[in-house]
Amino acid sequence: MQITEIYKSIQGESTHAGLPCVFVRLTGCNLRCSWCDSEYTFSGGHRMTVEEIVDEVEHLSVSGLVEITGGEPMLQEREVVPLMQRLLDDGYTVLLETSGERPLERVPKGIVKIVDVKCPDSGEADSFHMNNLDALDSADEVKFVLSTRADYEFARDFVARHNLAGRVTAVLFSPAFRKDAVGSRDSSHCLLDPRELAEWMLADDVPARLGLQLHKFIWDPAMKSV
Ligand code: SF4
Repeated sequence: MQITEIYKSIQGESTHAGLPCVFVRLTGCNLRCSWCDSEYTFSGGHRMTVEEIVDEVEHLSVSGLVEITGGEPMLQEREVVPLMQRLLDDGYTVLLETSGERPLERVPKGIVKIVDVKCPDSGEADSFHMNNLDALDSADEVKFVLSTRADYEFARDFVARHNLAGRVTAVLFSPAFRKDAVGSRDSSHCLLDPRELAEWMLADDVPARLGLQLHKFIWDPAMKSV
């Protein structure tokens, strides 16, 4: 499959935030989110076999945690599904980061899906494939990246309408980060002030977890492969 990079870092998001993790970043995405910080994955990369990827993961891994990400990994479903199954069989905890625009029913059982439902101001509203709600299981997580009050209200109402908190391990609300952010490692780069988001969540009693992208606060926000 076409791979942009494989590297080890600290997991920055989800309920696994803070843990060492190997990231397998696949090339290609069919969306164009306005705040995307992974545009370098849209093209390029290099071909790798399942065996070559597994060898590299084994070489880097200390914790047994692996994330398959992109781009959009499910664009390469024919090859990424066997890779995920192989990593599971080898005993890894495997996270799949996906927009949910592609069908998810063939993702192997045991993979933790982290589904990033796009909000209106991402510019990719309605890209989530609603049938994928039926593919969610209790170990999965659903994330909303928010840049405005309108995004927040969309996410809040989506969570309530589909009883997401009752379906998955965690619902995550995360402020979008400015994609051209460089230098200081603080929340001034967030498109939505985390404090404002926290106050809205408390006021509405939203059953979600506020998440900040840890890696943006540990390293320079412009740094790749972290
Ligand atoms: S789905 Fe992810 S990789 Fe694709 S444009 Fe959106 S943020 Fe970027």
